[in-house]
Amino acid sequence: MKTLGYAAFDTTSPLAPYAFERRELRGNDVAMEILYCGVCHSDLHTARNDWGWSYYPIVPGHEIVGRVIEVGPDVTRYRLGDHVAVGCMVDSCMECDQCHKGEEQLCREGNTGTYAGADRITGEHTHGGYSKHLVVREEFCLRMPEGLDLARAAPLLCAGITTWSPLRTWNVGPGSRVGVIGLGGLGHMAVKLAVGLGAEVTVLSRSPDKQADALALGADRLLVSSDEAAMKQARSAFDLIIDTVPVKHALGPYLPLLDVDGTLVIVGQVGPMDEINSVPLLLGRRRVAGSPIGGIRETQEMLDFCAEKNILPDCEMIRMEEINHAYERMEKSDVRYRFVIDMASLPAQP
Ligand SMILES: [Zn+2]
Ligand SMILES: [Zn+2]
Repeated sequence: MKTLGYAAFDTTSPLAPYAFERRELRGNDVAMEILYCGVCHSDLHTARNDWGWSYYPIVPGHEIVGRVIEVGPDVTRYRLGDHVAVGCMVDSCMECDQCHKGEEQLCREGNTGTYAGADRITGEHTHGGYSKHLVVREEFCLRMPEGLDLARAAPLLCAGITTWSPLRTWNVGPGSRVGVIGLGGLGHMAVKLAVGLGAEVTVLSRSPDKQADALALGADRLLVSSDEAAMKQARSAFDLIIDTVPVKHALGPYLPLLDVDGTLVIVGQVGPMDEINSVPLLLGRRRVAGSPIGGIRETQEMLDFCAEKNILPDCEMIRMEEINHAYERMEKSDVRYRFVIDMASLPAQP
């Protein structure tokens, strides 16, 4: 299947149009026309090969919402016209203990990335959602629930599930005290989802000017991390802190904020951390953890929860050709809170 996308061709050039082929449908494949694709920081890191696993050309995008246009003969769950979604992975071994538990993101053999991955059968490079079409095996296809705004839902597929999974892993519910560090694409979803689960939610920020934003998203309060007195008063005040900061930063100031057995979970930064002092960890039996996306079942649960509670990311819609400008703005955190590409802006033919 011929399709058109936007690809990075090397580490520095702007993304540009790229005509390529999607695979012929296998028995259990679903082909979709992509309607919307969110813009994630990982897309930019991959375009620039910041993590060392890129190839070129590469089509980024792993927050994908589309409509089914063709199904293989063995597909049972989806039919033509269904609204569907794809997140950060398109395959896994399906046989290991993690896959059997529905935690395909933790597959012992490694999951297959929607981009920057290799097809498990042919070894071909995978390409993501900055394109008109996608072919994916049905087990990695999500169903868009009725009533969820398709244009705004795309960021749920990465930013949404990345923050939902730790909320579920650490059993957040009514009465849980949740802190969220950072108020970008991930952070704003963490706030909305934790509020939706009934938690008491505090946004932690270095500057007091995030107060209005935090409250508008549904948080109960802002804790200014540069305010020493306020930080002292907030000691042992959290069960879970979700740390969405995407760059290297100090964890030291946040650890005393955790209650006994509390956890600070890193979901943003990928790479070496600043040194930490183990004293608050030992004395309070506190934990520092990390969490990637979530499994397919958990992702579907999150989509259904968002439809039920009418939780949607705050998005700014862009046209495909505006992607390079959007990357510049994303780097400056100049977006509230996620760019979404309207794929109708990309012609079907080059
Ligand atoms: Zn992402
Ligand atoms: Zn597996």
